[in-house]
Amino acid sequence: MTLASPTRIALAGIGKIARDQHIPHIAASPDFELVAAVTGHAAPDGVPGFKTIDEMMAAMPDVQAISICTPPRGRLSLIQQALDHGLDVMIEKPPAATLSEAQAFARAAEQAGKVLFATWHSREAAAVEPARQWLATRTIRRVAVNWKEDVRVWHPGQAWIWEPGIGVFDPGINALSVITRILPRPLLLDAAELRFPSNRDAPIAADLDFTDTAGVPVRVEFDFDQTGPQTWDVDVETDDGQLKLSMGASQMAVDGTPVDVGDEPEYARLYRRFAECLRDRVSDVDLSPFVHVNDAFLLGRRVTVGEFSE
Ligand code: NAP
Repeated sequence: MTLASPTRIALAGIGKIARDQHIPHIAASPDFELVAAVTGHAAPDGVPGFKTIDEMMAAMPDVQAISICTPPRGRLSLIQQALDHGLDVMIEKPPAATLSEAQAFARAAEQAGKVLFATWHSREAAAVEPARQWLATRTIRRVAVNWKEDVRVWHPGQAWIWEPGIGVFDPGINALSVITRILPRPLLLDAAELRFPSNRDAPIAADLDFTDTAGVPVRVEFDFDQTGPQTWDVDVETDDGQLKLSMGASQMAVDGTPVDVGDEPEYARLYRRFAECLRDRVSDVDLSPFVHVNDAFLLGRRVTVGEFSE
């Protein structure tokens, strides 16, 4: 069901993901109209750009919502400004630079009575819900996650990705968002190893060993230095067959046989979900994937590896 009239939405942070996904999917959505941008650089064609949310709202008080696509650091002040102006808010993953910041803006949105949608785009991948349903009736024996991509391709020249903090967990949190949705029980981190390039302040690779609350082992491997074919796989062994999610959970197979899960793009679903949240006036803020990242930094053994170069 579409909204009665399109929501007048602004985009903040016109970088790679805003241009690759948000702008085209807002344009294709019957529920949203892109009316403004908050940017330090160039606004999208045909849309007025403003340096700050305050400036935008002074000029365009009828903006109703904002979708925030800046890097995770600094989200609290942006979200607070948006809420102060009465805007509903959607944010890119990962939600923030720190857990306390994410908790603070979740509380702020609740107190303001505004909708906050902390998105996990990989959870909208086509195979996620079919996988969740398939697993719900089976006994899971073990899970293996391999999420390996080339940072040079997906984050070309982005300094923020190597600031102290997120590193390889920026894509890795997408895998965590998938497994925390499809697996039936909560996960507990037992051990982790984080590998830091000798010339960087953030990890380039990580291995995480979880068990779920019934003792099922879940092995997770992240790598940000994988050239050639990229790997975004989740393999689940059950008492009744082997489930494989591949290509970031957009594809699914059972015992090697592909299952048709459709091909609706993640960001089309994300904006439909945001429209549903607006229609029902409910927030959607699940920080559990981010909690696992925090646990990895708490518990993880740190290893220094060779220098990283672009
Ligand atoms: P990006 O290309 O570096 O763009 C981020 C934009 O945010 C910049 O262009 C800039 O917008 C604004 N910005 C504000 N403060 C900034 C700062 N301190 N450093 C850099 N930019 C700043 O990053 P991105 O790849 O689009 O990623 C943005 C968010 O989307 C991240 O949370 C990321 O995890 C998520 N995401 C990225 C991808 C991907 O494939 N790259 C996929 C899914 C999700 P203006 O130029 O308008 O000022």
